[in-house]
Amino acid sequence: MDNKITFVDTHAHLDGEEYQNDLPEVISRAKQSGVGAVFVPAINRESIVTVMKVCRQHPGFCFPMLGLQPEEVKEDWQEVLSDMKQAFEDNLCKEADSPLKYIAIGECGLDFYWSRQFEKEQLQAFEKQLEWSIEFQLPLMIHCRKAQNEMLHVMQPYVNELPGGVFHCFTGNQKEAERFLQLDRFCLGIGGVSTFKSSHLREDLPAAVPLQRIVLETDSPYMASVPFRGKRNESAFAVEVLKTLAQSYNVSESEVATITNNNVYRLFGVSASA
Ligand SMILES: [Zn+2]
Repeated sequence: MDNKITFVDTHAHLDGEEYQNDLPEVISRAKQSGVGAVFVPAINRESIVTVMKVCRQHPGFCFPMLGLQPEEVKEDWQEVLSDMKQAFEDNLCKEADSPLKYIAIGECGLDFYWSRQFEKEQLQAFEKQLEWSIEFQLPLMIHCRKAQNEMLHVMQPYVNELPGGVFHCFTGNQKEAERFLQLDRFCLGIGGVSTFKSSHLREDLPAAVPLQRIVLETDSPYMASVPFRGKRNESAFAVEVLKTLAQSYNVSESEVATITNNNVYRLFGVSASA
């Protein structure tokens, strides 16, 4: 692959314990494969600290995001949200011009795949974070699983004011893609699932989604691309997603990189070669 091509992994949990023994190697393999920046989401109270630690170790390469992930919404969700709000306010004040400034709210969203036990709380927590997105003028990094109708319903009153964002780990069909893309400042995050043999994304995406509405991601440590499927994922494997999209859109790899980098810059204000 041409060394000059760089691109962004917009979603990787590099603060996870899966990387505690070899994060420097993971980062250096990512850089070698062309990754120019990685966005790392805090998802709960504990990861507020661990995400910032990773980003501090790799400033200008790892960029922090913060939100309450829907599967992390439990009885204490209101306290966690108030801690997160405080963390945002401190960060925006202290790190205003630094690479450690939060670049997005998230990951946040709705997930009714396993359980609807906290459905009401998930909806309220997500709505709160929509309000933050408008208040702080930060884009959203959204997790949506088995909840598209509910999600679009909650977002509806805010769509004109929201600065935009990403529906991360998109694996749906053409119709689902079209519904998300009706929100015109939003993109779909495409990851390793697109490389799976069984995946219909390679046909559905070119049919329904312009590259101008796609960003690349890995969702590491989950969802590793073919040929690494089932193994621990890492940011370097984003290149497999890039290659897959180039093939299915029938464009060059550098074109996919250029267009998705522009999308990332438009949404997050971060350049791939930061
Ligand atoms: Zn995630």
